[in-house]
Amino acid sequence: MGKLTFSMGGVHPNDSKYARECAIEELPLPQTVYVSMAQHLGAPAKPLVAPGDKVLVGQVIAEPGGFISAFVHSPVSGTVKAVAPRKDLAGNPVMHVEIAVEGDEWDPAIDRSKELVTAIPDDKAAILDKIKACGVVGLGGATFPTHVKLSPPPGKVAECLILNGTECEPYLTSDHRIMIERPKEIVIGAAIMQKVLGCPCVIGIEENKPEAIASMRAAVAELGYPNMEVKVLKKRYPQGGEKQLIDAVMHRQVKSGGLPIDVGAVVQNVATSLAVYEAVQKNKPLITNVLTVTGNKIPGNLQHNYLFRIGVPLSFVVEQAGGVPDTAAKLISGGPMMGKAISNLDATTVKGSSSVLYLSDEDTRRKPETNCIRCGKCADACPMGLEPFLLNRLYKAGDLDALEANAAQDCIECGCCLYSCPACIPLLDHIRQAKGQVMGVIRARAAAAKAAAEAAKAAAEAKK
Ligand code: SF4
Ligand code: SF4
Repeated sequence: MGKLTFSMGGVHPNDSKYARECAIEELPLPQTVYVSMAQHLGAPAKPLVAPGDKVLVGQVIAEPGGFISAFVHSPVSGTVKAVAPRKDLAGNPVMHVEIAVEGDEWDPAIDRSKELVTAIPDDKAAILDKIKACGVVGLGGATFPTHVKLSPPPGKVAECLILNGTECEPYLTSDHRIMIERPKEIVIGAAIMQKVLGCPCVIGIEENKPEAIASMRAAVAELGYPNMEVKVLKKRYPQGGEKQLIDAVMHRQVKSGGLPIDVGAVVQNVATSLAVYEAVQKNKPLITNVLTVTGNKIPGNLQHNYLFRIGVPLSFVVEQAGGVPDTAAKLISGGPMMGKAISNLDATTVKGSSSVLYLSDEDTRRKPETNCIRCGKCADACPMGLEPFLLNRLYKAGDLDALEANAAQDCIECGCCLYSCPACIPLLDHIRQAKGQVMGVIRARAAAAKAAAEAAKAAAEAKK
């Protein structure tokens, strides 16, 4: 049987994993950190500290601002200097807690020993509480609160936990490194999530990471948890997309507008699994992660994988990594396909930060756009079965009804269409805009329907 992969679309960009051999280094502490209140999907967290407060490493500094939200903890010890808006990556103002670093004093409740804790707790509710209290969110890109994702709604049953070790975006190597350097912790984290969900676990890793495959297989064999296996996936982008990974591993398709749990799947990233281990077994909140500093045609000494504390300014990361190379024309947070341009190096790292990527002028220069030649390559490449050339046309015509009817809202913003288009049409930019507009319409409609239902209910009760 051939290697597993998803059934529709996809592309094969050069993987450019230049930092794959760089062992994880611990980034030093800066003088000041700025901890964002919006580093998870959902409502921003509400600060619980004020200027002048003293904090320890791992102390709660903000509480969830809603059901889909997360606790935030101090990544350093020191004094709170300000609770104020500060610009994020894109230059938008977001509330941050500014902390002047003083020493490195940890909350004594956190187990900082290297001892591996392999016994899986029995109490599922206590596990979920701990994951929530430690502010764990998905580290594969979406930053969805993990305790919510591990709690299927009534009537839905998890049949398979898929651990995402694909790291299919070119250049990124942080997941690769943790699978080599922390495989047992990841496996224990997976076993904890299996305990909560009561289902088998498949760890999916792409074939271009043989060291990670061997390392994770050895950890699975040594720890001996039941119903867990590593499966090798073909190298193909965007294999790490939730729907694509479910298709590859379970051969099931999530319908338009549906969720993974609708087909019995729960997908978690390997870095999230490591965070679950640290939360449940070590009482350590999510205050660290690993990011890659890398780029094309830059010297080896500028390539790094760093264990960083959240809230460290990107300018500090870049400085510690040897400075921005002369060849860098653009800086990206994330991979080249789905990452976001860094417009502001004063922005800080967040829970989900995965890279600082330097792209050269040659890497980023777009060829002049020409007319669509109706070759259909964009549609062939789309892993969601969309027709990007049509969505582009509808976007230009401003036809929101037709965009919704043609499922612009299902776009996962993978960029495969743009990558494939010989006419260099900015399909991703246009379809992303179109998706945003359609999602706005869908949300407004849902809100109006909810308000109408509540008004009808109130009227019915008034009549009683
Ligand atoms: S960016 Fe959207 S439309 Fe383009 S290939 Fe990806 S899913 Fe399809
Ligand atoms: S790939 Fe580009 S040129 Fe070909 S059909 Fe799609 S939009 Fe048109």
